[in-house]
Amino acid sequence: MNIKDIFEQLDLRDSDVQGGELAVHSPIDGAQIAAVKVDSKEQIDTKINNAQTAFKQWRNIPAPRRGELVRLLGNLLREKKEALGALVSLECGKIYQEGLGEVQEMIDICDFAVGQARQLYGLTIVSERPSHKMREYWQPMGPIGVISAFNFPVAVWSWNTALAIICGNSVIWKPSEKTPLTAIACQKIFEQALTQFGSDAPDNLMQVLIGEREVGEQLVASTKVPVISATGSSAMGRIVGTQVAQRFGRSLLELGGNNAIIVAPSADLSIAFQGIFFGAVGTCGQRCTSTRRIFVHADVYDELIGKLKHAYGQVKIGDPLDENVLVGPLIDQDAYNNMQDALIIAARNGGEVVGGERILQDQYPEAYYVKPALVEMLGRVDNVQEETFAPILYVFKYTDLEEAIERQNDVPQGLSSAIFTTNVLEAEHFTCESGSDCGIANVNIGTSGAEIGGAFGGEKETGGGRESGSDAWKVYMRRMTSTLNYSKELPLAQGIKFDFSDL
Ligand code: NAD
Repeated sequence: MNIKDIFEQLDLRDSDVQGGELAVHSPIDGAQIAAVKVDSKEQIDTKINNAQTAFKQWRNIPAPRRGELVRLLGNLLREKKEALGALVSLECGKIYQEGLGEVQEMIDICDFAVGQARQLYGLTIVSERPSHKMREYWQPMGPIGVISAFNFPVAVWSWNTALAIICGNSVIWKPSEKTPLTAIACQKIFEQALTQFGSDAPDNLMQVLIGEREVGEQLVASTKVPVISATGSSAMGRIVGTQVAQRFGRSLLELGGNNAIIVAPSADLSIAFQGIFFGAVGTCGQRCTSTRRIFVHADVYDELIGKLKHAYGQVKIGDPLDENVLVGPLIDQDAYNNMQDALIIAARNGGEVVGGERILQDQYPEAYYVKPALVEMLGRVDNVQEETFAPILYVFKYTDLEEAIERQNDVPQGLSSAIFTTNVLEAEHFTCESGSDCGIANVNIGTSGAEIGGAFGGEKETGGGRESGSDAWKVYMRRMTSTLNYSKELPLAQGIKFDFSDL
């Protein structure tokens, strides 16, 4: 599929993708593929006001009927999966199979949300007062602001939007300035779903704000947007979380990771190898859940690391739209520079670096393809504290599991973790209260990727937010406690007497 076909299938016209101030470059070859219009301050204000108006209408639509809109959205995503998957590859550089996988996640969350639309359950609570009942309801919040990162340009939007919509909210989405095209394509798909849905859906139920960081800042500052769901670096989350807290808004933060895998002596090394290899080099190391550190038991170290080094030498790197390729480019030159800086520091700290060099420079002088790097931290007991958003895998050797878990946890981030072991005691220990301190702790699968059915997110500098499955829908709703008196008395709580019968 060429770029013209992709645009045509996604209904992206010249007026949508040309003539604007924000240039869009494909990381595949660095070529400019679009120039999109940036929203002005006034336009952003108007869109926020529109979102409030849309919310006031949408909240009155019964939730199962709201689910119908998400069902239609899921169907359209099925129809457009190949074209949208290809646009994801073109715009953010992940291989086509991963682009398709990202769209599949969107379809899955739509299916999940349709069912959830009939299950926005509250509670009934026994009252301490006679002839009283207490209930807990979940009510819509208002416009939900979604800020997303370049590396999952569409899935993160859908995780938030599918649930926010069934919960009765409107959505305003600020995508990464590096991936506005996929956002414009999603808005078009959403609008087609609205047309199929019928006239009981308001205009402007889901709007996109195009632009750089300042556009996100304006959204974050608005008291008209009660919830901000922000996905990106911990540096961004630190600012956004503080600003939202200052205005007593609610934030859902999905930030950086520094994910580790422990490989125990009893591990099935064949699956451990696969989990580590995909986790470390997949998406060119540009997933929040990418495997960045491994702790390998001394008994299996040589065998596993030998296998990994061999695979690192063989992996096919190149155009992500070529089906034989497993690793595409880095997003841009900054990402490449950050990777080189991290490797220099690793070598200075005694790490033995294999790979990491730039390749395909002659063919793609404006793009940044690299060999994934493996860094053996031989004899070192210290750790790697920073997330470098590139394919660097730091390798440590261990002999004591307690110590390996402690070192795994001893970083500022807390997103994803895994252990490979066939020892049930080790597996259960890893997922107990003194095991992994991450939001995700897997056994015999890697750190990378997650199913939409579970709550996704992590602790510490990963931000503490949870989105996608489980009960993540509650973040898009407000909790209301209601006490109902069906007697002719008015007893006060806690037995308080307030006698004004003489008055
Ligand atoms: P980034 O932090 O540079 O940008 C993310 C988004 O935040 C962009 O849309 C950007 O314009 C916006 N932004 C930046 N500063 C802002 C501010 N002050 N106010 C409002 N908006 C602001 O991140 P990136 O380089 O696009 O993505 C990579 C990072 O995202 C990595 O750290 C990765 O781990 C993280 N990430 C986390 C998850 C997760 O679910 N935990 C998922 C994907 C990516």
